[in-house]
Amino acid sequence: MPEEKQIFVTRASLPGFEEYEELIRDIWDTHFLTNMGKYHEELKERLRSYLAVSGLELFVNGHLSLEMVLQAFDLKGEVITTPFTFASTTHAIVRCGLTPVMCDIREEDCTMDPERIEELITDRTCAIVPVHVYGHICDHERIADIARRHGLRVIYDAAHAFGEYVGERSVAALGDASIFSFHATKVFNTIEGGAVTWNEGPELSWLAEKLYKLKNFGITGKESVEYVGGNAKMNEFCAAMGICNLRHVDEWIGMRKSVCELYERELCNVPGIRLLERRRDVRYNYAYMPVIFEGGAGVRDRVYDRLCERNINPRKYFYPCITDFECYEGRFEFSNVPVAERMSESVLTLPLYPELTESEVCRICDLIKSFI
Ligand SMILES: *Cc1c(COP(=O)(O)O)cnc(C)c1O
Repeated sequence: MPEEKQIFVTRASLPGFEEYEELIRDIWDTHFLTNMGKYHEELKERLRSYLAVSGLELFVNGHLSLEMVLQAFDLKGEVITTPFTFASTTHAIVRCGLTPVMCDIREEDCTMDPERIEELITDRTCAIVPVHVYGHICDHERIADIARRHGLRVIYDAAHAFGEYVGERSVAALGDASIFSFHATKVFNTIEGGAVTWNEGPELSWLAEKLYKLKNFGITGKESVEYVGGNAKMNEFCAAMGICNLRHVDEWIGMRKSVCELYERELCNVPGIRLLERRRDVRYNYAYMPVIFEGGAGVRDRVYDRLCERNINPRKYFYPCITDFECYEGRFEFSNVPVAERMSESVLTLPLYPELTESEVCRICDLIKSFI
């Protein structure tokens, strides 16, 4: 394989062209491009069944799914969340007028450390927003227990956890609600897209309708506007892409699994490299391939630079830590999060997509071993 070929950290998955063409042909017949058309409704049904939840609302992207569900629950005050995530999680909290409170993460899987949550709860705390980072599932039982004792909402950022199961439970059914991202770079994509999911008990019977209205400007009738909503509707082209991609996603996850297992075999016994722990009771989607360089930022940055010189493009995902963002400087007094800071300086996510070949993975691993 020539060295010149660029290997990116990810590669968007697409259905066959004719498969997509067949669906969008109808759009030319109906001229129905958006506003909850037939593909929107069909994808919603299919995802509800795939994710095994009774409540599901589609959105234009994962970020606005989170903003809208935070707004739907009418939250006010402080939200306990994680500093080791994509900018979107904290930005959504802040853009909803809430104050993010940073809870440190666990060394072994980079999810929110449940031991650290209670010390952060004040009389202003209204919710916990944990992230199933890289598809590693949070300690949802401990988090649920804390939330119940303190009367807090739990909303999961499950952008990395599409289709995962923990024991018998679909990840989409954890907490009060979860959000997913269907961005092009995710395991399942609708070009851009997202969803809020939840289990529809009597307690949350109002949520579907409120989310539906919020994403359409808060319009509740021909002559009434009940909420200060936004525009976050998924259009028909994106929904059609989702319907096609959903037919292939299990096969893609299987291919990702083979790639990850090869990486793990090649890297598991390399001194200076640590892999995150996988749990036996979780069905993973193999969304990311994070590697921790125990030598810290010096080694991580050297490996990153040298790989880039060879046209292999991993990502410092997540770096910088959210607590170091310029936009939050002087705005919030973040607590110390030493584990998150250290992980952020020592992690690289390696290239991972279904079509990545065995020889490409082996070459990447050999280069990494030679650089550390
Ligand atoms: C991708 C992602 C989002 C945002 O999703 P978009 O669909 O890109 O808006 C939110 N949180 C996390 C953890 C993500 O990785």
